[in-house]
Amino acid sequence: MKTRNWITPLLLLAVVLLGFNMYGAYQKQTAVRPVPCLDPEVFLEQHQHATLQIVVDGVLEAIPTDIGVTAACQSALHTHDGSGTLHVEAQDVYPYSLGDFFRVWGKPIERSDYTLTVFVDAVQYRKAPAEIIFKDKQQIIFSYLHI
Ligand SMILES: [Zn+2]
Repeated sequence: MKTRNWITPLLLLAVVLLGFNMYGAYQKQTAVRPVPCLDPEVFLEQHQHATLQIVVDGVLEAIPTDIGVTAACQSALHTHDGSGTLHVEAQDVYPYSLGDFFRVWGKPIERSDYTLTVFVDAVQYRKAPAEIIFKDKQQIIFSYLHI
């Protein structure tokens, strides 16, 4: 019966490790929710426009046209022109964020060797910019300054 003495703590350890792994997988799943492609057959639950201006050392940087638009997929978050208008045209009521947009764009929000100051509707936003939830007519300014 001596063998049982070490089996129990080992089993406990296994259960704890498994639990940890599952929690990690769950966190990953909830943290990164893919932005869906639009289905032309389905009506929109939300259609909002926000503007994003990126200023680097005082110089306005162009926002590319057709971010989130490919032949195969029109993402719920996209641009049509270089004006900085971000279109949120979604078939669900999910609260899309600026972090979602940058993920569609494939760019990081932070730039190395730059500080970033963010303004939302002319008020400085002091939390993580990725968490800004899009609202209609929202004006977002990113000001990067070289360190
Ligand atoms: Zn639109």
